[in-house]
Amino acid sequence: MNKLTVLVVEDDAPIRNLITTTLKTHDYKSLVAPNGESAVIEASSHNPDLILLDLGLPDLDGIEVIKKIRSWSKTPIIVISARSEDEDKITALDFGADDYLTKPFSVEELLARIRVVERRLAFQAECGASDSVFVNGQLKIDYVSGCAFLCEEELHLTPIEFKLLCILAKSIGKVLTHTYIMQNVWGGSWGDVASLRVFMATLRKKIERDGNSPQYIQTHVGVGYRMLKV
Ligand code: CA
Repeated sequence: MNKLTVLVVEDDAPIRNLITTTLKTHDYKSLVAPNGESAVIEASSHNPDLILLDLGLPDLDGIEVIKKIRSWSKTPIIVISARSEDEDKITALDFGADDYLTKPFSVEELLARIRVVERRLAFQAECGASDSVFVNGQLKIDYVSGCAFLCEEELHLTPIEFKLLCILAKSIGKVLTHTYIMQNVWGGSWGDVASLRVFMATLRKKIERDGNSPQYIQTHVGVGYRMLKV
């Protein structure tokens, strides 16, 4: 697979250089934008495979950049935020960002997040037209019959557990916020994070072999959950 072209949106030159150098060392191509306006222009004119977006930009708010880009593109976006922007990070995910990194981050952390995106893009390319069956490792979901299987054995899921599993599977590789998940499971009259946690725990008991090191569903404390490509 060809390495990705990554658009790096960051106004802080030393951080921007660190990121682009890291990308270059690992054979990724990079494009840069020092502010929000140029980020939108670069994204629309060069159609990158991935966008690394700093939320604290001098001109546009990072969230505004996400909204603009999401109006025409599904390109994966990883937001980079300072600790003081924790709330913004969650808002960014709700507006369609895929993942986040908190400053200061290590180069290894950055590369690991990029690999998650790569695996997801490869997975989507592989599955292509088959929207009716989802396969991830030993986990299989047949959307049409409404059944899920682990190692070819049917799982006995409650309707809510099945819905949760489908929501995570359909956005594999993406961090989904509590709000996003609750709105999609319960609709407008959504419950609370505590009950979401309970349903998630019962779902995990059924699909994870080792509850202490979950393979399929990753918890992001205070943020939400993500299904990993196994
Ligand atoms: Ca900044």
